[in-house]
Amino acid sequence: MKAGEESARLVLRSVFGFHEFRGLQAEIIPHVIAGHDALVLMPTGGGKSLCYQIPALVRSGVAVVVSPLIALMRDQVEALRQLGVRAAYLNSTVDYREAEEIERAVGAGMIDLLYVAPERLVTPRCLDLFDRSTLALFALDEAHCVSQWGHDFRPEYLQLSLLRERYPQVPRLALTATADQRTRTDIARQLGLEDARVFITSFDRPNITYRVTVKDDPRKQLLSFLNQQHPRDAGIVYCMSRKKVDETAAWLAEQGRDALPYHAGLLAATRDAHQDRFIRSERMVMVATIAFGMGIDKPDVRFVAHLDLPKSLEAYYQETGRAGRDGLPADAWMAYGMSDVVRVSQMLDISTAPEEHKHAERVKLSALLGYCETPGCRRQALLGYFGETLATPCGNCDTCIDEVAMWDASVAAQMALAAIYRTGERFGAGHLIDVLRGQATERAVRLGHNNIKTFGVGAERSAREWQGIYRQLIALGLIGVDSETHGFHLTDAAMPILKGRERLHLRQDPRAETTRALKRAVTPRERKTIASTVSNLPVGDGELSLFEILRRTRNDLAKEQGVPAYIIFHDITLEEMARERPHDLDSFAGLTGVGARKLERYADVFIEAILAFRG
Ligand code: ADP
Ligand code: ZN
Repeated sequence: MKAGEESARLVLRSVFGFHEFRGLQAEIIPHVIAGHDALVLMPTGGGKSLCYQIPALVRSGVAVVVSPLIALMRDQVEALRQLGVRAAYLNSTVDYREAEEIERAVGAGMIDLLYVAPERLVTPRCLDLFDRSTLALFALDEAHCVSQWGHDFRPEYLQLSLLRERYPQVPRLALTATADQRTRTDIARQLGLEDARVFITSFDRPNITYRVTVKDDPRKQLLSFLNQQHPRDAGIVYCMSRKKVDETAAWLAEQGRDALPYHAGLLAATRDAHQDRFIRSERMVMVATIAFGMGIDKPDVRFVAHLDLPKSLEAYYQETGRAGRDGLPADAWMAYGMSDVVRVSQMLDISTAPEEHKHAERVKLSALLGYCETPGCRRQALLGYFGETLATPCGNCDTCIDEVAMWDASVAAQMALAAIYRTGERFGAGHLIDVLRGQATERAVRLGHNNIKTFGVGAERSAREWQGIYRQLIALGLIGVDSETHGFHLTDAAMPILKGRERLHLRQDPRAETTRALKRAVTPRERKTIASTVSNLPVGDGELSLFEILRRTRNDLAKEQGVPAYIIFHDITLEEMARERPHDLDSFAGLTGVGARKLERYADVFIEAILAFRG
């Protein structure tokens, strides 16, 4: 083993309390310690921070971490201080006196990791400080912010290219969770990292269970998902509109959940207070528009639920990626139905954009609908969309867990399409289904639709079944929806089916979740094989109460110090503690996430709680 690697492992164990490197960390960390540049692409929760934190401790001098997420810096620095690491941050929330003190400490070589906001870094004052200091490395976090192509462009990031000219001998490490090729190329070019070694890991998040459920009574479905799967967990529920956010949060609160709203229409102070409570809470449900989420690196978000269709698969992946950063099992749950499909279809209808743009838009939206409707493995569909191949179905998504039945829907589809055609391509699902089922409603009679050939041909199917058929036909692009009248019309693609020249298979919609218990995601044995990142099994019933006691101990400590609970110990450490029940310092030191400093500080109080526990 090379010297760099050996000291890296030592720091991994003694400071962070981890036993092994995770995936590419084992290559990236020695590479940076040796003084080379790198571009690191890893999904959220992949373990990017260690890639610069360990080199920061092994190399001499101060490591400068550039991040645009100043709201996070305080907690990041606090987490490092808990490990005994000498860390500090400089951003606009730090007052002049404090800043002077930090600068003095940096100049005197008393700080190992310094987090700096990009606009601050390029000031003469900061550069002057760096000129006087020994620099271990520069870590450019959220590096996609340098790309105008991406979603979070920050002009300040462009100025970071000056680091190369000014400090050519200091290694630079750019990190991002953004996968696409164009952003990647931009990062390398804008930051002058063309010669840097590129490290790319799989973007799979094996600990996330993906589920898409057909909307029936979405609020009730959400509640039963929460009650069955996450009665005591923190998570995020995304809705499209502010109004729906407010209503859903109020409703969940009435149902006894600790739920708060978050959207751009709230006062900034209210928003911040809600966000702060969420980060510190282990139980809270944040109901939010997409305004919430950028830079939330709370590790124990156990679920992300969508009550409305996200904008794109990219957005979906980013939003669901906020679940399970700690590597423990987490859920991505979405309720999806006719209204979502109709909305997407109408968006395509009104789009006045140039044809080529419309085409790109159509490809994106149909990928999104395709994901929702797929009878195959969802993870395969997702990763496939991002250009990655997963050889076998994952075993950890709803379609893998509950087998999806397909049926020959050729005749039913023909009926559904004929009903549109014979009523003049002007009506939506409600009236069309009345016609198919032979309901002589006032409207049907007034329009004479009770006399057309399709009237009553589909009486043997329920309205719900017909809804499912129409929804899938829209998603497949056989039906278009008028943006103003909401009326359905046939597209060219519908003709072969309407004329009976092609056959069509559709998926059987599963029954709603409110009427059936969700199956367990994976058996413990399967879970073990999912990935090395998911290193532990759920704790059993007998141990749960000890886990709860340990959680309380952790909460007390967190309150005392005014820090989020996960900064004391992550759930993964508490679960191991509940399972292993260490009775002495030696065995306590063996727990994941217990380094020298935390052992010294917290072992006694947790061991005491374990010894007092009879279970
Ligand atoms: P990212 O910045 O890529 O989103 P983090 O650096 O926050 O991810 O790491 C995600 C989680 O994984 C954290 O809880 C971290 O403590 C944990 N982690 C990272 N590397 C290891 C490792 N080698 N062993 C155990 N846990 C790890
Ligand atoms: Zn799957």
